[in-house]
Amino acid sequence: MTMRAWLSEHVLRVVADPVIFERGRAYADGGAVDLAAVRDGHVTATVHGGVPYTVELADQEGVLAWSCTCPYAEDGSFCKHLVAAGWLPPRRPAIRLRPPRTAAWSATPRCAPG
Ligand SMILES: [Zn+2]
Repeated sequence: MTMRAWLSEHVLRVVADPVIFERGRAYADGGAVDLAAVRDGHVTATVHGGVPYTVELADQEGVLAWSCTCPYAEDGSFCKHLVAAGWLPPRRPAIRLRPPRTAAWSATPRCAPG
């Protein structure tokens, strides 16, 4: 199954409460998601809420499986962090994972204008 299908908006709207869905999308749009690993059928990410939460989504033979380390998801509920992590990968197929910027790189002097 393609990622677009198993993490479609329809699927996310089915599993997440409507309020949770909107909060999750806001998290995704606000850059709160660090995708750690994305491959077809499996997404691992860190979502920055009050504290960072580790999120996992998987396509297990057509069944969506998930886990998040936040209290809301403890009972198996589909939380906003899961929505946020699930929202990005199928919609940004060209996404590339980059190592963090090094101190040396970010300290490179910029050319003065003019
Ligand atoms: Zn969560």
